[in-house]
Amino acid sequence: MKPITLQNYAEGHWVAGSGGLAELRSAIDGDVVALTSSQGLDFAAMLKHARSVGASKLQAMTFHDRAKMLKALADALTAHKEELYELSYNTGATKADAWIDIDGGIGTFAVYQGKGRRELPNDRILIDGNVEALSRNGTFQGLHVYTSLQGVAVHINAFNFPVWGMLEKLAVTFLAGVPAIVKPASATAYLTEAAVRIMLGANVLPPGTLQLIVGGVGDLFDHLTSQDVVSFTGSAQTAAKLKSHPVVQRESVRFVAEQDSLNASVLGPDATPDSPEFDLFIKEVTKEMTVKAGQKCTAIRRAFAPASVIDVAQEAITARLAKITIGDPRDEATRMGALVSTSQREDVRAKIAEIARDGAIVYGDPNASPVNEKGAFISPVLIRCDAPFEAGAVHEVEAFGPVATLMPYAQRNEVFDLVNRGKGSLVMSVFSYDTTFAQDVVLDSGSFHGRIAFIDRDSAKESTGHGAPMPHMIHGGPGRAGGGEEMGGIRGVTHYMQRTALQGHPRTLAAIVNRYIAGMPTENAEQHPFRRKFHDLPIGYQLKTKAREITLEDIEHFAHFTGDTFYAHMDEQAAKANPLFGGRVAHGYLILAFAAGLFVDPDPGPVLANYGLDNLRFVKPVKPGDTVEVALTVKDKTLRRPDQGEVRWDVVVTNRDGDTVAAYDLLTMNAA
Ligand code: NAP
Repeated sequence: MKPITLQNYAEGHWVAGSGGLAELRSAIDGDVVALTSSQGLDFAAMLKHARSVGASKLQAMTFHDRAKMLKALADALTAHKEELYELSYNTGATKADAWIDIDGGIGTFAVYQGKGRRELPNDRILIDGNVEALSRNGTFQGLHVYTSLQGVAVHINAFNFPVWGMLEKLAVTFLAGVPAIVKPASATAYLTEAAVRIMLGANVLPPGTLQLIVGGVGDLFDHLTSQDVVSFTGSAQTAAKLKSHPVVQRESVRFVAEQDSLNASVLGPDATPDSPEFDLFIKEVTKEMTVKAGQKCTAIRRAFAPASVIDVAQEAITARLAKITIGDPRDEATRMGALVSTSQREDVRAKIAEIARDGAIVYGDPNASPVNEKGAFISPVLIRCDAPFEAGAVHEVEAFGPVATLMPYAQRNEVFDLVNRGKGSLVMSVFSYDTTFAQDVVLDSGSFHGRIAFIDRDSAKESTGHGAPMPHMIHGGPGRAGGGEEMGGIRGVTHYMQRTALQGHPRTLAAIVNRYIAGMPTENAEQHPFRRKFHDLPIGYQLKTKAREITLEDIEHFAHFTGDTFYAHMDEQAAKANPLFGGRVAHGYLILAFAAGLFVDPDPGPVLANYGLDNLRFVKPVKPGDTVEVALTVKDKTLRRPDQGEVRWDVVVTNRDGDTVAAYDLLTMNAA
């Protein structure tokens, strides 16, 4: 097949490099599949295009608009995913490997479009935390907010996940309202290029929001500013080089690094060869060694088992490895495909030789070329190291292929020291049914690992496994793993935004964030708020009810009617002895029910449903003879469908003295 010449997408146009084409070869047979170059691109102009065209367009959209855009992109990628699968084989990936990359990437967009619509406001400013009281009378208050960076996200990605690696970063970047320039690793850039073409073809991305570089980044770093973010995935060496670029240093350019990681897996001290956790550990170690031919940043590199069971564990792992068929990834019988390139295989062989000096290879011949000579095939290799405390390379060197080292530990506390010798990892897994051990793992090793997966007989069936980064959870790790953090739900979006502390009068703060803040001027509700449709309810529109007395009869009636005859409501003597009450008090739920009775407008109208309360607090007890009255204020609004929106009401219930007795947010769905 004639190789394709890849194109860059710069300043709104597809352009091939002007020379210096590099050959990209198939992992299966070494044939040239694509030619690539970024020569001749005007990198400064690309950055300018993103900042001046892309950022302004994206930042005019709300979080919900951007989430809808992600959905449309996910739909377009799904419709064309067979094309991506076909290209993926050349990277050495089997169908199952490609599923992780392609469907995993699309799934990440899907999760983020949902989270964006549910967890972010239909707005452009994101509030972080609660209002902070900074003054006695409340005229000067504090609030933290996030706003979009007014720069560009430069994504430099590794070769192993050419689709997922791009999409997991784009999901959060786009939601944050920041345009991106993607630079995939050259070896598999043909797959990324195809995915970018599909996304651009969906016609939902505003101009300037996505550009692609297939080749070197030229002088791009010279033109970065403090509003830009570099998000890098790859080797520690390249990360160190790019991080120390003088412009990155001078401008304090945000630099997120995801790099090498010597991830560990631990079989707990409670496990025996007969326990379910033992089998689960064996399966996971084998799976992590062979999926993507071990080219996963999260793969298990160091496996620890109690010394008493390590020989049985070794036998079981090698027996499973012996069943792995290595071959052409297109062949359905193949369980493990090839490494990405023969040069990668040379690198893996060299790293195995280094690690094996700490022990001995007990499975696989790294120097054999299974399948054919021209492809980048290699056997899985299991190394056994019996003196992990004396070992060096095993805790230092990452062989980015189907390679793991099995090591024993004698005492349960030893294993924490051993796993932490990886000096910071993306993930560690623990196979144990002992929850005390699980807690010790977190206390003694948590700070060295970005993620810890506990897998046991009860969770295994539904577990997402050791190696799969989930969009809901943080991906990244301290130390050797780069110190970066990606995804983790909405946390990942904020990496592309600036957090700013705002201080001022509540009127100003409320106007900035489009949300009611106590202390701002309110609008007295001339018309009952339940008679108004979603769009006719201004923020700060407030109903103040009349007062209602709570009698002892009310309390007793409520107690017998609901069955809640707790002594504090019913037994004067016992309630007197209670230091918080000093006598009988009304039920909290009675106060809520009476509050509703005071503010509800009963007739059919735009309020369709009450679907919950948030942040409920009973602040002060209400005694028989006291009164309650309510201030109901429109706090926040989110349109959920063209014809319906969620209204968040601030509800404050006060007593005769004007003291707050209960406060909460009430949520209703209103017709628009
Ligand atoms: P690499 O050589 O560091 O390359 C990573 C990326 O950096 C590629 O896109 C590469 O482009 C680019 N790059 C290299 N030199 C550059 C420079 N001077 N300026 C700008 N960009 C430059 O890493 P790799 O060998 O491809 O990837 C394997 C490593 O990545 C492993 O160590 C693995 O652990 C790590 N990894 C980590 C994660 C994670 O999430 N933590 C995920 C996957 C992989 P070219 O390809 O064009 O050189």
